[in-house]
Amino acid sequence: MILLTAMTSDGPCLGVKTSAGVLVLDRARLQADDPRTIEEALLTPDGLSRVRKVLRTKFRSAQTVAKHSVPEAQCRLGPLFRPRNLLAIGLNYKDHAAEGGVPLPEKPVVFAKLTGSVIGPGEPIVLPPDTAEVDYEAELAVVIGRPCRGVSAAEALDYVAGYTCANDVSARDFQRGDGQWVRAKSQDTFGPMGPYLVTPEDIPDPQSLQIRCWVNGNLLQDSNTSLMIFSVRDLIAFISRGVTLQPGDVISTGTPHGVGFARKPPVFLHDGDLVKIGIERIGTLANPVQAAPVRESAP
Ligand code: ZN
Repeated sequence: MILLTAMTSDGPCLGVKTSAGVLVLDRARLQADDPRTIEEALLTPDGLSRVRKVLRTKFRSAQTVAKHSVPEAQCRLGPLFRPRNLLAIGLNYKDHAAEGGVPLPEKPVVFAKLTGSVIGPGEPIVLPPDTAEVDYEAELAVVIGRPCRGVSAAEALDYVAGYTCANDVSARDFQRGDGQWVRAKSQDTFGPMGPYLVTPEDIPDPQSLQIRCWVNGNLLQDSNTSLMIFSVRDLIAFISRGVTLQPGDVISTGTPHGVGFARKPPVFLHDGDLVKIGIERIGTLANPVQAAPVRESAP
């Protein structure tokens, strides 16, 4: 199941990507207690099962799906949901560690990114005034669907609600100078996510996905999640040893080689750029880049 947020005159609605376009599950198509947004589907017990049930009962045949779907180009897609917690992993690809010339970490490097940074597909990444080194990072983001604490790697994927694309936008000068990474990673708009939440039945193995990033059409990152140092299973098991993960928590699983600061010469984002993150079986997340609006001078 491929879920999205469709922006309608009725506000953000849960949508499903179908072979014929997008099926918007608006008020008329849902029972009063069915989830109306991805956030509600994640936070309601069995919320995702309820969405599956609506599809099974009301849209069983391909003809019905086609009749009620609209072309995706006619749909304005919005942010999937606001993560409850947004955790991210530093240095989690063998090829990225190699380009930085650093040894492989012995355990995952977990950091937090403020959730206020999250934006949806098509929304601009706004360059803050105090940095000249804003960089892209293509990442597979894992969305937690059930509370979990102390789970083993073997059972960890049972707690996943789905997967999406993330861009862990980073101000490298802040990252180098601050001593820790929160400010560098959490500037407003530095958390593009989306455009789809793909549930695990469509991604049985999250460690075999091609992951890419383009800036203005130039392919700058091209790797595979098989090169992760710590797999999605390992990360959930490691974090949940002492942190209870809850529905709506997101783990951004690190970026492969090809980031801007490690290139010669370095590539940083500028006003007018277009950044695309593409992950096999999920889709493509595109965000334009804008300079911060010029502030009016104080009186
Ligand atoms: Zn990252």
